[in-house]
Amino acid sequence: MSAENVIEVRGLVRRYGDLTAVDKVDFTVSRGEIFAYLGPNGAGKTTTINILSGLLRRDAGEVSVCGFDIEREPVAVKQRIGVVPEESNLYPELTCRRNLEFTGQLYGLGRTERRKRAEELLETFDLSDKAGARFGALSRGLKRRLTVAAALVHSPSVVFLDEPTAGLDVLSARALRELIRTINRNGATVFLTTHNLAEAEDLSDRVLILVKGRVVTEGTTADINKQVTKVGIVSVVFSGEVTKEALRGACPAVLSADGAGDKWQLQVSRTHQAVAQIISFAEGKGLEVMEIDTDPVSLEEAFLTILEGNSSKTKGRR
Ligand code: ATP
Repeated sequence: MSAENVIEVRGLVRRYGDLTAVDKVDFTVSRGEIFAYLGPNGAGKTTTINILSGLLRRDAGEVSVCGFDIEREPVAVKQRIGVVPEESNLYPELTCRRNLEFTGQLYGLGRTERRKRAEELLETFDLSDKAGARFGALSRGLKRRLTVAAALVHSPSVVFLDEPTAGLDVLSARALRELIRTINRNGATVFLTTHNLAEAEDLSDRVLILVKGRVVTEGTTADINKQVTKVGIVSVVFSGEVTKEALRGACPAVLSADGAGDKWQLQVSRTHQAVAQIISFAEGKGLEVMEIDTDPVSLEEAFLTILEGNSSKTKGRR
C-alpha cells in the first residue's frame, strides 16, 4: 500500500446469489481526504462500506484499510476505523453519555479515558445539554449526531459514514455536513456514501460514481466543478404537465424556462444543482423525468443516462 493511501480496493466483487452487487470495483482513498461514494439506490454503496468495515465478506478482490487486509487482520482495522451505519446502532434506553461511554468500553478505553472522551464529544457535537437524555427520545437529527460522535470515541483515523444526512431536514443536514468537515479538519480521512450529488460535491475532495455495482466515473470535485459551473441548457420531458411558475419556484438553479406542458428547455446556472432540483421537483409532483439532456455534457448527464439504463456499461450484469 502506498503511504498516502489509507484505503485501497482492487477488483472487489460481492454477489448475493445471482446478483453481483459490487462488480470489479477499484479505487483508492488518500490520507486526509473526504471521499464520496455516490450512487442511486441499490448501487452497492452499503455493500462496499460493509466490506471495508469488516461486516461483510467479499467474493473476490483485495481490500486494504490503513495498510491491513480487512479479512486477515480485522482487529487492526477495527481499532483504526469508525463506522456510522445508515441505521443507528446505539441503545435507545441508555442516555447519550452512557451510549458514548459504553462504546468507549467496547473499544477498550479505560473508565477515566472514556468518561473524558464522552464529555469531549458531547461538547464538540453540541450535545452537552442532552447528555442525560435517553438516546431513544432524541430527534432524528440529534440521533444521527450522537451516532457520528460514538463512531469517534476511539479517535479513529478513518471514518465511514453511510448516507449520513438521509432523512434529515435541511438545517440538520447542513449542521451534520459541518461536523463532517470538522472531523476531517481534525485529521480523519472520511469515506461517505450518498445518493445526493450536490452533497457529494459540497463536502468531498473526490467523488466516485457507482451504478449497479460498477464504477461509472471518478474525479476530484474540481474536475466536476469545471464541468458543471457553466451556464447550461437542460432539456427535460416529464411524465405529465407542469407550469413554468411551479418549475421556476421549485428549482432556483433554473434561470429561464421555455416550453409548455410536459416538455421544457431550461437555462440553468449550475447544471448539477438544476438536475437535482428538477428531479426532486418531479418527485414532489408525483411525476417521472422521462428524458433529461444537459449541455454541456456533464457527469450528471452520464449519471442519469446510466440510471435510465441506456448505458452499455451496465447491461448484462444480472
Ligand atoms: P441504498 O442507497 O438503497 O442503500 P446501496 O447503494 O447501498 O443502496 P446496497 O444496499 O449495497 O446498495 O445493495 C446493492 C444491491 O444488492 C441491491 O440490488 C440490493 O437489493 C442487493 N442486496 C443488498 N443486500 C442484500 C442481501 N443481504 N441479500 C440479497 N441482496 C442484497
